[in-house]
Amino acid sequence: MAEKLSAVKGMNDIAPPVSAHWEWLEDRLRSLMQRYGYRNVRTPIVEPTALFVRGLGEVTDIVEKEMYSFEDRLNGEQLTLRPENTAGVVRAALEHSMLYDGGKRLYYMGPMFRHERPQRGRYRQFHQFGAEALGFAGPDVDAELIVLACDLWAELGLSGIELEINSLGQPAERLAHRRALIAHLEAHADRLDEDAKRRLHSNPLRILDTKNPAMQEVVNAAPRLMDHLGAESLDHFNRLRALLDAQGIAYRINPRLVRGMDYYNLSVFEFVTTQLGSQGTVCAGGRYDGLFEQIGGKSAPAVGWALGMERILELLKEQGCLPEQPAPDAYAVVPDVAALPQAMTLLRVLRQQGVSVLMHAGGAEGMGSMKSQFKKADASGARFALIFGADELAQGMVSLKPLRAPDTIGAPSTVVAQSLQPLADPSAWGAILRSA
Ligand code: ATP
Ligand code: MG
Repeated sequence: MAEKLSAVKGMNDIAPPVSAHWEWLEDRLRSLMQRYGYRNVRTPIVEPTALFVRGLGEVTDIVEKEMYSFEDRLNGEQLTLRPENTAGVVRAALEHSMLYDGGKRLYYMGPMFRHERPQRGRYRQFHQFGAEALGFAGPDVDAELIVLACDLWAELGLSGIELEINSLGQPAERLAHRRALIAHLEAHADRLDEDAKRRLHSNPLRILDTKNPAMQEVVNAAPRLMDHLGAESLDHFNRLRALLDAQGIAYRINPRLVRGMDYYNLSVFEFVTTQLGSQGTVCAGGRYDGLFEQIGGKSAPAVGWALGMERILELLKEQGCLPEQPAPDAYAVVPDVAALPQAMTLLRVLRQQGVSVLMHAGGAEGMGSMKSQFKKADASGARFALIFGADELAQGMVSLKPLRAPDTIGAPSTVVAQSLQPLADPSAWGAILRSA
């Protein structure tokens, strides 16, 4: 036998029954985006490596160590499996002049790739859903995106997700803060870990983000970016706060919230839960007014967020918010292969009417005993069996048999008993089968 192959570490198969949860979540997301006026964008999973190096910044975790990059053997191009989708969306917006007639509200969903240590809530192929508002300077649209996320948690039935916000100001303000921050950290060099020492001069802001308990005291005492913001940045932040307050949205200002990517400015925010262990950030985003220019386009303001679909699904499960598995409306029991053509014809008509119906399929030997067919019908969760028996067919009828207690069938009491229905006119009775 050939050697057994398995999926790449940290990359998961999503199969039934769990895939139904994904579809359910995707439907909810699409529906909400439609109501907020955001439209779908789909960009390639592979992009030129330079897009991420320039877009995210060379000293970010992603570019330093998490990207799946490779050379195209045929033409030597340097390519990368997308680790996130904001850079790709901005590239696409520039490439297709999407902002020529004003701002665009877009959303995406799909797999992202990062070479991280796999653990609960952290995978190498994971899925993000993201919303981006391109061409709006805010802070109204920043507020809209945050409100949208809060509405999403409510529609999904989730609770206990907390919002943290901060402002990163503008690059010049960050530079002044950076000097003060480096001086502070250098003064406490003996208390810095290896990671912090490495980042001290490349990306000191990220040190504020450290989870190392031994460094909390140093970072808590560090100069705050907020204290270096000018009037305009503060005004942007305060207007965002006022809009959130007016919607009754609670938040915590976290001066240490800095976000991983270089491209952020002004508003940054994260939605966090304590219910998922250390991978508690379910959604994160902010404003990235510099990104268009950074990847070679005409400057344009933009803001967006991305949520981790695996983490949201985990939380939905944790809080018991996932719907029951969808069962077919009916299961077709076909005692003899001779009845197959008629059965298939009728089932197609029922499906055109919106009925979901599973056809019993046999092995090469035949259809199997009635007993085994009914066992399958029962296991399928279907509310009805349609029995294509020879006697019934001879009269132009099919037998319809309830498989569940009347109260779980949800059909009028007249049909909870087994009945014969005319093959020729399924439109007269097909609706009985359809779930509410
Ligand atoms: P973290 O600090 O957890 O590594 P991040 O700052 O790298 O997160 P973003 O790049 O902002 O994360 O991605 C947005 C969201 O995507 C995260 O809040 C998280 O929910 C999800 N996410 C990020 N990386 C992964 C991963 N490797 N596996 C699963 N979900 C992820
Ligand atoms: Mg990360």
